[in-house]
Order: sequence, then structure tokens, then C-alpha cells
Amino acid sequence: MTASPLFYQAGPPMPEVSHGHGVFLWDIHGKEYLDGCSGAISCNLGHGRQDIRDAMLAQLDRVAFTYRTQFENAPAMALAQQLVEITEGDFEKIFFVSSGSEAVESALKLARQYVVARGESQRRHFVSLRPSYHGSTLGALGVTGYQPLEGPFTAITPGSIKVPGPDFYRQSDGDRDLHIQRVLDETRAAIDAAGGDTIIAIVLEPVGGASTGARLVDKSYLEGLRRLCDEIGCLLIFDEVLSGVGRTGSWFAYQQWGVTPDLLTTAKGLGAGYYPVGALLCREQIVATVMAGGGFQHGHTYAGNPLACATALATLRAIQHEGLLDNVRARGQQLQQGLQALQNRYPWIGDVRGLGLLWGVELVMDPVEKTPFPAEANLFARITALAKKEGLLIYPRRSLNGLAGDHFLVSPPFTISESETLLLLERLGIALSRLDSEVVSPLLK
Ligand code: PMP
Repeated sequence: MTASPLFYQAGPPMPEVSHGHGVFLWDIHGKEYLDGCSGAISCNLGHGRQDIRDAMLAQLDRVAFTYRTQFENAPAMALAQQLVEITEGDFEKIFFVSSGSEAVESALKLARQYVVARGESQRRHFVSLRPSYHGSTLGALGVTGYQPLEGPFTAITPGSIKVPGPDFYRQSDGDRDLHIQRVLDETRAAIDAAGGDTIIAIVLEPVGGASTGARLVDKSYLEGLRRLCDEIGCLLIFDEVLSGVGRTGSWFAYQQWGVTPDLLTTAKGLGAGYYPVGALLCREQIVATVMAGGGFQHGHTYAGNPLACATALATLRAIQHEGLLDNVRARGQQLQQGLQALQNRYPWIGDVRGLGLLWGVELVMDPVEKTPFPAEANLFARITALAKKEGLLIYPRRSLNGLAGDHFLVSPPFTISESETLLLLERLGIALSRLDSEVVSPLLK
């Protein structure tokens, strides 16, 4: 056999997938996997759905692609309308893209164009959190605070002012209010050092994704940021590429905190893994200002194409018609209880945190000191491999020097049933018990 012409990140050999149905995938050898992380937290409706297939085929039979400057297209207009409705008037204008990184790039560029159109071209800095993840293209990577990915690119990305976000597990010493105040003070100090009138926007994930292992913020923190942005006249951007479209039990996570950003990005679950599609949701006044200043100088060929939008419309319809937000909340509670029971069994499970069907599990060598395992022990990779052997997919991340231990996400499709959730927990329990005996116990001896 010749070497594969594909190149991705090096990793262990992978089985070839055969097919998927519901929350399960099968490889070509017939082995079953429960998709406990919805692919990359994107296949939110599970696999092999007939309704999505039918909607896509119906659109393909009409037309797959038209360019946005040549025709109005009904699926794009209907999808934009739906997004306006589910955000209950918080956003009036929608810009479509094909990925999360594109959504973030679009937000950064629209924000910059907005301040320039307002006559404030001295505003040239973004403020973002460390750790965080906002995408892999240069602009989105610039606001990302995740050392393993920044690597050689820091010198050539636009970059951002990085500030710490709330970390209730490692940094709060039990007093959440004091911790939030400290974090907000640090943010304020970093902004003052640069000059408040040089800031374009503060960008953050209202619920952390893979980079932080579903770390949560809280209402008072977001309110503090909102006040700060209003005071210094910059924008607030929420990146809900991962947490949006139902993942946390509401359409968007920000709706649970009641703090509304000026721009909001989403992608991943919008096409539920069936087709790449993302969106930037905007307040009308920002778009109006940019349009009056000559229009948004930005766009991608595939943005808002009919097939993408028809797929996303079918996704939203399924979530609505099947009451899936209720299921996300109910199964989320079940998952939380199951994960906490596992935490009680293994002291090296330091933290279990999350919302809806987005749960992060952090592994630590010493639960009191919260010391991460040595990086070379590769705990994140070991637990992922053990889970896969048991027929369970989880989404791992390595430890970040002093900022987080090895962690993994459990984030199954919204359609998961009660018994499938039990099966997920059972398979995870077996994998953790093997991790305990084969890896952790020898390390702790
Ligand atoms: N923002 C967040 C919060 C994400 O989780 C991701 C993807 N993990 C991105 C942006 C980038 O999305 P994509 O991989 O679709 O470019």
C-alpha cells in the first residue's frame, strides 16, 4: 500500500468509518462507537438523519449554488429570519459563512470597519482571554489564547491583548464574587494600559469550549464586561461557534445569562455536521453604520449558499419540532449526575463542569493542589484511546502550563436517550477504571 496523500496531525492509526445512525457510528470491521462528543461538537442531531437528507436532496434538486450578488435565495432569507426570531430581536442582521473561523474573522473585520466608519480609526486592539479558542485562520488565531496552536504564528497574526477569564476551579479560592472582581480589575488594568480608546472589541466564549474544557463564566462577569465595553465605547463579541444552536440547553448560551453582545458568531451545530455553515449575528446599528460607510469589505464564495442554508433550516426545524432543547437540559442533568458519581469514585477527577450537553472533565494528579499530571504521561490521549476501545468517542485536550490539567469534553448529540446516556456513562466508567489501574495508579505510586 502506498502512503496516504492526506496529511493531518500525527496520531495513532484510526479505523475507517463505515456508517452512522443516531448517536452511533460503526467502523468497517463492525465495531460500534457511541459518539459522545458529536464529532467535534458539531453533529448535534446525530448521524444518518432522513429529514436532513431529504431537505438537502430537495434543495439539490432545485439548485445547489447561487452567488449572493446574483440572486436572492429563499433558504438564506428564511434562515436569517429564523436566527432573528430565536434570538428574540437581539440581532437584526445576519451574515453567513462556512465555518467557525470565518465567522470570527467576519466579526473582527466588521468590528474594525465599524469603528473606522465611526471616525475612530485609532481603535486597533482586540481584547480576548487566555485560554481561549477562536479558530485557525490568522485573524481568529490572533485572538486565540491557546499556546500549543499559537506557536510560530504569534509574530504574524494581528494578535490581541490577552487577559485571564474566570476560573472557578483553579483560581477562585471559593469566593466567586471576589474572583470575578479580580478578573474584571485585571481586564480593566490591561485595557487602561493600552488606552480604552484604542480598543475595538472584547471577544470571548461565554462558555468555554475545547481549550478550557467547558469552563463557565457567570452573569456578574458578563455584566461587568458589558459595562466596561459601554464605558470605553468598544464592542462586545461572543463566540458561540461551539456553544450556539442549542448545545447548552438554550438556543444560545448568552440567553441564559441575560447579557447581550453586539456581535455573535456561530457555526458547528448550525449545519449539524451535514454541511458546513456558520453565521455572524449583528446589531442593526453596527451594520447600518458600516453600510453607510461604503459596505462590508469582506465575503467568501460559498457564504450563504442555498444548500448550506437549507441544511441549517432543517437543523433548526428538527430542534424545534422534536423539543430537543428540553432533551438537552434533561440529559444534561443526567450526564452531570453520572459524571459527578465518577468524580466521587476517582479523586484524580478534579473538576466536572458544564451546561446542557456540554461537559468538561479535568484530570489532576493532586486534587488538593490541583496539580496537572506530567505532560509526558499524555493522560488526555490515554483516556481517549481507552474510551475508544470501549466504543465511546470523547473530545480531548492536553494540559496547559499551569492554566488547566488534561481534560476532555463529553458532548453527545441532542437526540441522545436516557438509556443511551447510561450506556455512555457505563463505557466511560470502564475506560476510567482502566485508566486508574493501568496509568494513574502506577504514576501515583
Ligand atoms: N470558535 C470556537 C469557540 C470554536 O470552538 C471553534 C472550533 N472548535 C472555532 C471558533 C473555529 O471553528 P472552525 O473549526 O469551524 O473554523
